[in-house]
Amino acid sequence: MLKVKVPVYYNSSTTASEATFDLPNKCPHCGETIFPRAYKGVSEQSYGEDKKTVAISAQCSNDSCKKYFIAAYNYNSYTEISEYIPYSYRPPIKVELPENIEKVSPNFVEIYSQATTAESEKLNQIAGVGYRKALEFLVKDYAIRYNPDETEKIKTMLLGPVIKQYLSDFKKLQTLATAATWIGNDETHYVRRHEDKDIKSMKRFIRAAAQYIAAEYDTEDATDFTEERA
Ligand SMILES: [Zn+2]
Repeated sequence: MLKVKVPVYYNSSTTASEATFDLPNKCPHCGETIFPRAYKGVSEQSYGEDKKTVAISAQCSNDSCKKYFIAAYNYNSYTEISEYIPYSYRPPIKVELPENIEKVSPNFVEIYSQATTAESEKLNQIAGVGYRKALEFLVKDYAIRYNPDETEKIKTMLLGPVIKQYLSDFKKLQTLATAATWIGNDETHYVRRHEDKDIKSMKRFIRAAAQYIAAEYDTEDATDFTEERA
C-alpha cells in the first residue's frame, strides 16, 4: 500500500477536503507493482457524516499499461481512519440448467457451475474436465436413484459401464450420455479422438441429458399426485 494525499469531493460539492489513503500498489489490470497516480476522491455522503464511502480514481504507473482504476474506502473524517474495500469485478455467471435437477444431483449442479465459471475465464482445458466430471455425477446419481441397493457398486464403476448397464431402459438418455462421455474423455485424456466435437457439443448433450432427467423427476411427481387423488 502507498500513502497518498487526495482531494475528496463530498456529496458533489465543488470544494474538496484533502485526506490520506493507502492506495494499492498492485495494478488490477496488469498485476505489476506500481506507484499509482491518484486523481481525486468522491463521496456521496457529506463531509460531516461519520461513516462514508470514498472512491478514488487512480491510474497505473506502468508505462505499458496506464489504465485507470477505482480504489474504494470506508472513511471516517473525524478519526481519519480509512479501510480499503477490496473489489472483485466478477459478475455472477448465469448457469442454465433445468429446474429440479439439483434434487436428483446437487453435485452435478455444483460441478457444472464451477466448469461454467472456468469456461467464462477462458480456462477451457479445466472447463472441459469439469463438464466431464459433472456428467459423471449426473449419470451416477441418476443410476443410484433407481438402484439404491447398488449405490456403492455404482460409485466405484467407470462411467462408460454405468451408462451401458443402468441406462439401457432409457435409450435417448443413454445416447446423450454416451456422446457427452466420448467428447468428455477427450478432455481428460492426452490424445484427442473426436476432433470434430468440442466443449460446446458436450455441453449441449449434457444439458439435454439433464433436461431428460429433470423431466423424469417431474413425471414422478405428477404420478404421485394423480395416484393420490385417483
Ligand atoms: Zn497496470
